[in-house]
Amino acid sequence: MRWLHYLCFGLLLVSHQLYAWSDHANLAWPLLSADDALQEKTLAPEPLADFVNGQFHAITQALAEHERWSEEHGHSHALTPASLTFTGDKPDLTEAFVRAIRINPTLSYEPYRQILLAERPSPDHPDSVGWAELSFLDPGESHARTRYLLLQDTDRVSPAQVLATASDEPDMGMDVGLFANNGTVFGAEYGFGDQSFGNPNLSYGSQAPFHMGFYHLDWLTRTAQPGLLRTYPVWRIALYDRLAQVAFKTGHDYWGWRFMGWALHYIGDLTQPYHAIPLPGISTVAALWMVVNGETDAAIQRVSNRHGVLESYQYQRLAAIQRGDMSSAPWAAWIEEAALSPRQVRPLPPAAIERQLTRESVEAAGHLDHALATYVPYRYVSDAAFEWVGSGYEAEIVELVRKAGGDESVEQLDRAILMQLQRFVGVARGWLSRAQAHSMKSQPIVNSHDVED
Ligand SMILES: [Zn+2]
Repeated sequence: MRWLHYLCFGLLLVSHQLYAWSDHANLAWPLLSADDALQEKTLAPEPLADFVNGQFHAITQALAEHERWSEEHGHSHALTPASLTFTGDKPDLTEAFVRAIRINPTLSYEPYRQILLAERPSPDHPDSVGWAELSFLDPGESHARTRYLLLQDTDRVSPAQVLATASDEPDMGMDVGLFANNGTVFGAEYGFGDQSFGNPNLSYGSQAPFHMGFYHLDWLTRTAQPGLLRTYPVWRIALYDRLAQVAFKTGHDYWGWRFMGWALHYIGDLTQPYHAIPLPGISTVAALWMVVNGETDAAIQRVSNRHGVLESYQYQRLAAIQRGDMSSAPWAAWIEEAALSPRQVRPLPPAAIERQLTRESVEAAGHLDHALATYVPYRYVSDAAFEWVGSGYEAEIVELVRKAGGDESVEQLDRAILMQLQRFVGVARGWLSRAQAHSMKSQPIVNSHDVED
């Protein structure tokens, strides 16, 4: 079994360098933009402290329920250390809440919203800020030009804006540094143990086990590399779903939508096949053969490059189309279709994400991997001596594919990727239905002063 240990560990040293779909907010936007009710600017942005201080009883109860759920549903590796359990008697409740749900405590979690590509050319936003104001991580290709607005009490935002913005937020570092061996004070306390895979020394490498979910590993891999089973996206989804229900039920709708948006991020990650299976398109037997032949590092590099090319290509296509560049008709059609997707679909519960969605991602992996290997020039996706990330070719990827294989290659690649994005729209719609069902239970906040009156 040593070979598998080596294989899996090595693989994830490389592949975790990536973010999954680039820029989740703009990916979710077509689906959200057509719904009038979601577009109404009805939400008052609320500091996290107001929600936590106002509702600590309900939060305490919800987190205790989540602990029970974690134990009963096979997520006991994620149980909270007793010292971090949320109780109303902590001196700083907001800090205690952040530590109880075990997210990176160096981020502010104050209200903000992303200015979307669809808003461009955007109205003058003299107060807008860049990625560096909100995250300690490098912005990467897709976030370097993104602008954000810090929200004041008097601003009003729509559920669509909050949901879209929050669906990108977990990539800002919320899940970075949480493991005992990540060299952070909080990681030493959070009880997640040592990082089960991925390189703990890279800036955002440590978020990998939170954003990749291997829920359908074969017996051999599970036995040889049990660390790959210690993944957290579904556990995060269930946690944020529960917190959203508390927020809506107690009239804190802004936080209801934001928590649902956080959860949507992990749902998006899990629809991307490279986040649901360690080695797409490679059977266990083939993987074993590669180890025997000393070809493991090469295979790892190829998987990493295909994952990277996929993200670059998707981002370039989407950014171009949302800028009004109509050269990529299938992507425009996808956006239109996403906007028209059925209003009423069955709400998607967290259990179905683990059972069904991630299985479909695993099943789709071979086809997508094959398409990338076939239609993208050999050097970028099959030459193990080449490193895609940081190569400087990211912005030209569509033209590079066209130059090498003509319009036919671009069409085929569009088709393979859009098939996965259509899956994303379907599950995102199911999640949106769930959010809307939660929001209908919203109760206006009644404070003790009102009651006395
Ligand atoms: Zn992610």
